[in-house]
Amino acid sequence: MRERPHGGSVSPLIYIIGGGLYLDITESSSLATNSKIEKMLRKDLLQMPGYEPIIPPERFGAEVIKLDGNENSYGCSHRVQQALRNYFDYHIYPDPDQREVKQALEEYVGVNSNHIVVGNGSDELIDLVLRLTLEPGDGVINCVPTFGMYSFSTVVCGGRIIDVPRKQDFSLDIEEIAKFVDNRTKVIFIASPNNPTGNLTPREDILRLLEIGVIVVVDEAYYEFSGETVINLVPDNDNLIVLRTFSKWAGLAGLRAGYAVAPVSIARHIHKIKPPYNVNVAAQIAMLESLKDLEHLRQIVKAIIAERERLLELLTELPFLEPYPSQANFILCKVKSGSAREIYQQLREKGIWLRYFNTPLLKDYIRISVGKPEYTDILVDALTQLGNFHVKTL
Ligand SMILES: *Cc1c(COP(=O)(O)O)cnc(C)c1O
Repeated sequence: MRERPHGGSVSPLIYIIGGGLYLDITESSSLATNSKIEKMLRKDLLQMPGYEPIIPPERFGAEVIKLDGNENSYGCSHRVQQALRNYFDYHIYPDPDQREVKQALEEYVGVNSNHIVVGNGSDELIDLVLRLTLEPGDGVINCVPTFGMYSFSTVVCGGRIIDVPRKQDFSLDIEEIAKFVDNRTKVIFIASPNNPTGNLTPREDILRLLEIGVIVVVDEAYYEFSGETVINLVPDNDNLIVLRTFSKWAGLAGLRAGYAVAPVSIARHIHKIKPPYNVNVAAQIAMLESLKDLEHLRQIVKAIIAERERLLELLTELPFLEPYPSQANFILCKVKSGSAREIYQQLREKGIWLRYFNTPLLKDYIRISVGKPEYTDILVDALTQLGNFHVKTL
């Protein structure tokens, strides 16, 4: 028997079962084919393919070495787990202004809390910035190859994505970017370090981009692994927004906890348009407890950085791979012989998960998240075996 959640204003088609969301297949599929209803939906979104998310491993039940999502394989702080177990007011709505979290972040990031907006992951802040800025058809500059959410949210918000390829070494082509900016361009997105390439954008380049005059969003999702930030430029630049997340360094990917540091004039408006309860109680507790356990979390970050360098050296020794140096918690490799997809599949059969790319800009590349040392050993063993097999079959 399916049970309705009590007292909620949940759509009649959706039931909650064991904490998961269940969509009534028969009813929803009849809706999906009702073209009369589809005419009510946005035409541009009907054509949209949608974001291809990574698959959570529970669905396969097997023990998995998960190196595909840049998650923190050490997990979150024990303080987070304990605080969530000992909290008994989950029936009370969260603080819509996230005051305590912002207060704690003020010290961590070194700017006044009126610059800070907290979000349901930094993904939500990407969406909120675009909702705030884009009118239909407005342009967003996307420096490819890069993180997929910038183009995803631009399309959902009715904007127009302008892909400007990075240079051969994945650095930014500032002149080219400037050429594509016109009076309908609103935002330039820069991930630094960039995902999936791992390289930082130098501060001088950010300063040059700021001079163009449109809003520059610098996504520092991997800041803790690079140690470089432009947050201190925010108070003096009315067009700079920096995004951060607790997903990677603090191991909170599953709880959704991110923040933006923006000029007060922009932060105020993001606050105004955000869903009031966008950050749930658990995520707020988790952020607060993580910020109280910095020494421990910084040690984990240090271990991951050391492991990144060890993995880089080991990958360099494999003749069929060309790894790129990284300032983040993952390493991008060009597959020099063989196919990235095949490597992905063969490792997956052994329970090792990574990402592969086979796009015009990243033809035959794999991206490996840096995990615990024992994962590196298992991964490199598997890759070495694969390499031996390849040599024999050549
Ligand atoms: C992982 C990632 C994010 C997502 O962060 P969340 O806070 O989990 O939404 C944002 N930007 C980049 C570049 C990322 O790689």
